[in-house]
Amino acid sequence: MTLNGTMKALVKPYGKRGLKMVNVPTPQRIGPGDVLIKVLAASVCGTDLHIYESDASIRERVADNQIIGHEFCGEVIGVGSQVTKLAKGDIVSSESHVICGTCAYCQDGLPHLCQEVALLGIDRPGGLAEYVVIPEQNAILKSPHVSVEVAAMMDAYGNAVDTALCVPLIGKSVLVTGCGPQGLMAIAIAMAAGAKQVIATEMYENRIETANKILESYVRPNQTNRRDMILDISKNPDGVVNKIYEATDGLGVDVLLEMSGADRAIKDGLDVLRNAGQAVILGLSSSKKVEIPWTDLIFKGVTIYFRYGRHLYRTWSEGRNLLEFGLVDLEPLIHKPYFALDNFEEAFQLQIDGKVAKVIFKPDL
Ligand code: ZN
Repeated sequence: MTLNGTMKALVKPYGKRGLKMVNVPTPQRIGPGDVLIKVLAASVCGTDLHIYESDASIRERVADNQIIGHEFCGEVIGVGSQVTKLAKGDIVSSESHVICGTCAYCQDGLPHLCQEVALLGIDRPGGLAEYVVIPEQNAILKSPHVSVEVAAMMDAYGNAVDTALCVPLIGKSVLVTGCGPQGLMAIAIAMAAGAKQVIATEMYENRIETANKILESYVRPNQTNRRDMILDISKNPDGVVNKIYEATDGLGVDVLLEMSGADRAIKDGLDVLRNAGQAVILGLSSSKKVEIPWTDLIFKGVTIYFRYGRHLYRTWSEGRNLLEFGLVDLEPLIHKPYFALDNFEEAFQLQIDGKVAKVIFKPDL
């Protein structure tokens, strides 16, 4: 099936800040293993913000006028001749890593580290458009228990699930550094996973408010001795380390989930890790080098894990289970009203300024 005419899409002009809203031909070719999707909702990832700003970390990789966006949910309206599991009318979420399936990493069961990976919205056309073509294996059937807006965020949510569930959290004190979308999701997952204490750090007021609401939603009336807290680092950044030691009876936290990529958060997070603690690092730093207390970490005998992407497709089922059984709710992250693609400047700026967790685009608005 092909579509005639043109569609609206957000594209990246090479080397310039911002995006352009353009009319481009609708996808004209569906490969045998591909599906054609009408986008119903799309969200904005931290990577999209780096692309918007034309940051050096990503500038070279995005071709001129590439359609960006890799977090979306849509309806399958066309299928290639070899598609077997999906049919027209199915509602699907996007997995952004298009993998080769044959390289050493794919064969080792580590396809998220595929050597030939092509990322939607970076290496090939993405979903901030009315239509997009993706391989069938990148279109994951939406659960009937989640909204299309939450389904649009599943790729990002997978990062948080993969990070937070990297180490056991039950009965542990957990520090989440940063309450952007990834941090907010990590707080919910840590609470759902049975952490005895969740401490998080953040500088933006509205995100602190959302984080507190998420924390409160998990606490039962008889749990009066919990010591969860969101620390506002804008007020006294130098006092954060002491406050965390105080809140953990001088021991420090068992687990650090680093979701911010901020140098200071990484350093402070590792500082407050207790002996034999575990750090799981997701946030990409904007600096090339981050100073860490090397010798202290050795004396403390800590373990550090770095996470990238999601495990395909284990993380998808873990994340979906948490949503379907009401253990995690992502609705509080969603900013309303939703945006038409034409209003991309306002939407991107809101997210860049840290004023909202997740904006949602509806291409048919
Ligand atoms: Zn591969």
